[in-house]
Amino acid sequence: MKITRILAYRVELPLYETTYKWSGGKSVTIFDSTIVRVETDAGLIGYGEVCPLGPFYLPAYANGVRAGLHELGPHLLGQDPRQLAKLNRMMDAALKGHPYVKSGIDIACWDILGQATGMPVCVLLGGRYGDDVPLYRAISQESPDQMAAKVAGYRAEGYHRFQLKVGGDPDVDIARIHAVAAKLQSGDRLIADANTGWVQHEAVRVAKAVRDVDVYIEQPCLTYEECLAVRRQCQHPFVLDENIDGLDVLLRAKADLAMDVVNLKISKFGGLTKIRQARDLCVSMGIAMTLEDSWGGDIATAAIAHLAQSTPPEFLFTTTDFNSYVTVSTADGAPQRVNGRMAASTAPGLGIRPKLDVLGTPVVIIGG
Ligand code: MG
Repeated sequence: MKITRILAYRVELPLYETTYKWSGGKSVTIFDSTIVRVETDAGLIGYGEVCPLGPFYLPAYANGVRAGLHELGPHLLGQDPRQLAKLNRMMDAALKGHPYVKSGIDIACWDILGQATGMPVCVLLGGRYGDDVPLYRAISQESPDQMAAKVAGYRAEGYHRFQLKVGGDPDVDIARIHAVAAKLQSGDRLIADANTGWVQHEAVRVAKAVRDVDVYIEQPCLTYEECLAVRRQCQHPFVLDENIDGLDVLLRAKADLAMDVVNLKISKFGGLTKIRQARDLCVSMGIAMTLEDSWGGDIATAAIAHLAQSTPPEFLFTTTDFNSYVTVSTADGAPQRVNGRMAASTAPGLGIRPKLDVLGTPVVIIGG
């Protein structure tokens, strides 16, 4: 089987809640998502999606996905999409770095491999665990009272894991954590995600001020070293995210005992092939994970669901249904939240059927 053509579509994904805000005054109102379509000479077509969280979250931006596909795509024509390790080596040889550019192609090729073998991607990634997986709900940064007021509604939707966007003024963040923690019920989990927003001394202050609160602290500071220093002065379970973008730093973080949970995002690692390697290593090392992506719609959510549901449940801390945050649906067959949980499709591949009228005219065409 050979790749004959690679196309990409640009889709705007507005939010039901209008704006998503996090540390340092960063926000997004309409997400700019790229849906990648890989065609083959066998007639099988696979889809992937890459949607950065704006241009200022990770080293990734929406136009960069499309520009990178123009650079990388021609090298992949004629290659077998089912030979994923080989294909990833080829992508790394043709374009150094830029993992997020490769992610959509890699996901689309897993979709093709699934269709070619008649198996869902989660089975190919190791096996399906359980009926569904638990979701977290991100609480966009607002005043402490506004954030606390959101908890009841999200719990009514079935969520029991709440990721609070902090990383602002430390005194306000202390109030945010206390206000939301006061709304928790038995079985709920609270994560305070600073998204690199605190300077080291501020992070230590916040952790000490919420010492008696049952809360996870996620990525308090910009650098790995700052986070490690905070971790060593903090009693809370600790999550690393933005700094963990490859196996070298993941192994270092394990050796340093720098985290209890790690947040792995598909496009941060460069696709399902590479994140599977990191995921399996975390299982072997006893590190639980939040498995997700930076953002996305139906197709990204489908890929996340297959990754999450092929992970042993005790190591899956939580995952995300981004498609429930956005008002535009790009595919049928994507996971739909039920009681705060979602399930990967049982159909071959990702199990999605793209809505071609929503995708519109391709903005990238390589080959054919
Ligand atoms: Mg995070």
